[in-house]
Amino acid sequence: MEILFIGVGEACDSSHGNNSTLVTTANGTRILLDCGFSVPHHYFRLASDSLELDYVWISHFHGDHFLGLPLLFLRLWLMGRTRPLVIVGQKGVERKALDALELAYPGFEDKLTFSIEFQVISPRETATIGGLQWSTALTQHSQYNLGLRLDDGEDKKCLYYSGDGRSNNQVRELIHGCDLAIHESFDMVDTFPYHGSITSSLQLADECEVGQIALVHLDHTMRKKESERIKKIVQARPGTLLPVSGDRITL
Ligand SMILES: [Zn+2]
Ligand SMILES: [Zn+2]
Repeated sequence: MEILFIGVGEACDSSHGNNSTLVTTANGTRILLDCGFSVPHHYFRLASDSLELDYVWISHFHGDHFLGLPLLFLRLWLMGRTRPLVIVGQKGVERKALDALELAYPGFEDKLTFSIEFQVISPRETATIGGLQWSTALTQHSQYNLGLRLDDGEDKKCLYYSGDGRSNNQVRELIHGCDLAIHESFDMVDTFPYHGSITSSLQLADECEVGQIALVHLDHTMRKKESERIKKIVQARPGTLLPVSGDRITL
């Protein structure tokens, strides 16, 4: 499983882009995890064969996680895409995605040369999509947000992507034993009721025996102010990553 960090920032981070990751599985399936405002520009700059995208996961309906979809659709259309693109997310994802497209580019849904398909998943079930197991847990966020676990049976690798929100018991159960968790860490310690922190992300990784933990979606002012402290925390704990846009790892 190959991981390419497209962006690692929160909504207002103009240096690191909105949080998004491109996953390429053992059989070559490509999944983009979240597609916020700034993601298409970075995705098309960083991804080789950017037309070869199979799935887009939308964790929740905050703009920094889904409002890049209209531009993604537009550019794939301009590049001549013909095969369907599948958007996976919670109930209501189809309406949100198509409404966003209509608002951004009125009438474009009918012009697209490829179809947009939708697959809805819920925390009650594990879905098999593209040869992977997709399991989710509801996190503690101001919007209904699903943390996603992807299991690749082919190379036996497992990834967790939090989207936004603090973890809870359901997340702890879901995340156990993952090779990599990409977790939002908005503050240094848990301060905001609907966000996690660097401290709680590391605790989660310790408790749940997660191989590596990538800290993303840091409050951009905190990231700047506490940069030295954060660097020390990351260096002190093996398996802790503070990725930047363009970083790649192989699991
Ligand atoms: Zn966010
Ligand atoms: Zn959010």
